[in-house]
Amino acid sequence: MLPSETQKIIDQHGIKYVLAQFVDIHGAAKTKSVPVSGLKAVAEEGAGFAGFAIWGMGMEPHGPDFMARGDLSTLMPVPWQPGYGRVVCVGHVNGQPHPYDTRYVLQQQVQRLTDRGWTLNTGLEPEFSLFRRDAEGKLVPVDASDKLEKPCYDYKGLSRSRAFLEKLTEALQPVGFDIYQIDHEDACGQFEINYTYSDAMESADRFTFFRMAAGEIANDLGMICSFMPKPDPRRAGNGMHFHLSIGSASSKNLFHDASDPSGMGLSKLAYHFLAGLLAHGPALCAFAAPTVNSYKRLVVGRSLSGATWAPAFIAYGDNNRSAMLRIPYGRIEFRLPDAGCNPYLVTAAIIAAGLDGIDRQLDPGRACNENLYKLSLEEIAARGIDTLPQSLKEACDALEADPLFREVLGAEIVDEFIKLKRMEWVEYSRHVSDWEIERYTEFF
Ligand code: GLU
Ligand code: MG
Repeated sequence: MLPSETQKIIDQHGIKYVLAQFVDIHGAAKTKSVPVSGLKAVAEEGAGFAGFAIWGMGMEPHGPDFMARGDLSTLMPVPWQPGYGRVVCVGHVNGQPHPYDTRYVLQQQVQRLTDRGWTLNTGLEPEFSLFRRDAEGKLVPVDASDKLEKPCYDYKGLSRSRAFLEKLTEALQPVGFDIYQIDHEDACGQFEINYTYSDAMESADRFTFFRMAAGEIANDLGMICSFMPKPDPRRAGNGMHFHLSIGSASSKNLFHDASDPSGMGLSKLAYHFLAGLLAHGPALCAFAAPTVNSYKRLVVGRSLSGATWAPAFIAYGDNNRSAMLRIPYGRIEFRLPDAGCNPYLVTAAIIAAGLDGIDRQLDPGRACNENLYKLSLEEIAARGIDTLPQSLKEACDALEADPLFREVLGAEIVDEFIKLKRMEWVEYSRHVSDWEIERYTEFF
């Protein structure tokens, strides 16, 4: 028998199949469809997968199964797929939680906070781009009229993509997304949907569900919803900012202190956490900006609209959107992650870096409230500000050089991540691009 709460959800939503869902190391959703009669077994033993078939599970074809064990408290209907539910799973191998499963990696970091009586609350801000394929299969914008030089917040752009945006919003609202704003972002065909924050695990589960929903709803409409970090080199990329605060057992925001002399409303605890993020910035970059394409977003330089809005420098500032960390007031916005990240790994790495800052009582130094986009590299260096890694290779090097993450998140997951990301870099480096053909074919 299933717990009565679970049965209630099944009956209420007419769920016939449940997606036993987890993510691979890249954060992409993987599932098996389980008829409801099999849900109890998924909760107790798990749904079996050949681990070698999944990116980053550190498994071999001749080993035991990867068992995705469902957490029944996460069961919810899949609104765009009537008759289906989704349960979030954690991988187990030989009856033990699997150290390569990134949701398990996050669970362990959350536990470190719980041991101190703390909850990390995160508000994630997904940005995405809408495309379709033309008759030749080439990617083109869904709305051909959406091509302003400064397209941000444009009414026409928002209005003309509303069929998709409404469908997505209305699919997410009934399953706990408290959506409060939808806007056209600063690239053509680019949008953002904002919903209320939650605890770090729930936010990561939600973001995964968000990408599942957006991808499938777009597909139903003949569109592609892309979370690629930088689809157009001249325009802003798809970020996925994390708003961060730590809550006490009584839900008090421990990052807030109204007496902060800087006026940013941050507590000592918040400053130490922030300093941890700064100190580990280059290594964090590998998790937060995990693709070859991510580094076309984190560039030094402007975009067609005037700004990339993405960080290039390891600095923090009061409401400073040109810095890696912005302080909206009484909380921290981490602007480094992009929409192509694995939210479990990024959140786990944030906790690892932040707690290191707290434990070592690190000092972030003075806030930088200048427009970093306007400063020359010499001026940046004169202020003692470092530049973020400018390629996936540099980010992998930085992660390898920073022992914290291996120690705290586990050698298995960090080594596997670096191995796969270095492979991705080599594959990219060996590919001959159109740019090279243009430049070199008749150059000599
Ligand atoms: N699209 C920008 C980025 O890549 C962020 C824009 C914003 O501040 O919302 O981070
Ligand atoms: Mg935005």
